[in-house]
Amino acid sequence: MDYLILVNSFEPLSEDFEKTLCLTKTHGKLFEKQTAKALDKMLGDALSDGLKIEVISGHRTAEYQQMLWEKEISKLMGRGLGYKAAVKEVGKTLALPRCSEHETGLAADLAQEGQDDVSESFAKTPQSVWLEKNAHRYGFILRYPRLKEHITGIAFEPWHYRYVGAESAVMIKRNGICLEEFLDFYQDKYLDSTKSEV
Ligand SMILES: [Zn+2]
Repeated sequence: MDYLILVNSFEPLSEDFEKTLCLTKTHGKLFEKQTAKALDKMLGDALSDGLKIEVISGHRTAEYQQMLWEKEISKLMGRGLGYKAAVKEVGKTLALPRCSEHETGLAADLAQEGQDDVSESFAKTPQSVWLEKNAHRYGFILRYPRLKEHITGIAFEPWHYRYVGAESAVMIKRNGICLEEFLDFYQDKYLDSTKSEV
């Protein structure tokens, strides 16, 4: 598994990606094996600090992502938006099939205790503050931060955490960058000093 895999509207997953995935169920959702382990540890430690965090979403199949996409488009078109306008609007917070990180099993949508859906208000909760402070230690990054929308192409999502492994997550957090920036500017430098690949 490439924990630094980039998945966005320009970099869709290959058709056979799903066959290579090894998924584990935790908190009622499926995640890539190592991601599930790290998520368990992170949520357990948050709970020890008195903060219960709900897992809203884990792995999704491309078919499920397609269904979500179509549902949102028809909802907006039902409100009178044209197809193109609806696609633009939905695209701000929902990825196209094969373009969602959820299909990798490396992404988790999280919420505060008692919630059954994601919400922008999560950003103001102690759970979100805890995650912003600690998630990198477990290998997770806030994947779509504020002020990086022009690079990620996705609006601020306080609920969406992505597993990249602890070393990379620490670098990303310390430098205040997003995954795209890390892959473009830091990865080579970083990997040169940590990998002995010939
Ligand atoms: Zn998400």
